Amino acid sequence: MGIEEKLPSGVLLSTVEGLAGYMRKASFWPATFGLACCAIEMMTSGGPKYDLARFGMEVFRASPRQADLMIVAGRVSQKMAPVLRQIYDQMAEPKWVLAMGVCASSGGMFNNYAIVQGVDHVVPVDMYLPGCPPRPEMLIDAILKLHDKVQATPLGPNRRAQIRELEAEGLVA
Ligand code: SF4
Repeated sequence: MGIEEKLPSGVLLSTVEGLAGYMRKASFWPATFGLACCAIEMMTSGGPKYDLARFGMEVFRASPRQADLMIVAGRVSQKMAPVLRQIYDQMAEPKWVLAMGVCASSGGMFNNYAIVQGVDHVVPVDMYLPGCPPRPEMLIDAILKLHDKVQATPLGPNRRAQIRELEAEGLVA
């Protein structure tokens, strides 16, 4: 008989990593950071109709030091890139980046000298979300997929290398 079967009802076994992952995914604090039209949809996601707070994201933080999720909502101009990087650097680890919309993901239709052709040239991106603009339901879906990734990520400093291994094995999207 396994130890689980000897436990009284109401008692669960887990690991510290599993518990930490569960708490992290259920308490994202996004940074307030809108760049262009996609930001309108991001703001709508936090309103009463879509109610992002259902998933533990009650408040967008005005200070990057209190945030662990950067939603890059809109095109990133070359002049904004160092500012974006500075905000990212000020966020505490572990932190996550979601590229919202085609402009943030790849430059989109703005294939010109003024726009960064994908925010992954500036910061590491954990989740890409296509669309122009993505609807609030799409943003919420991307955040829930990111939750899976956060839950599956082990503790420790080599987080991104471990995520790549999990992706290669098909364990996270
Ligand atoms: Fe605007 Fe579309 Fe670019 Fe989003 S993807 S910032 S909606 S042009």
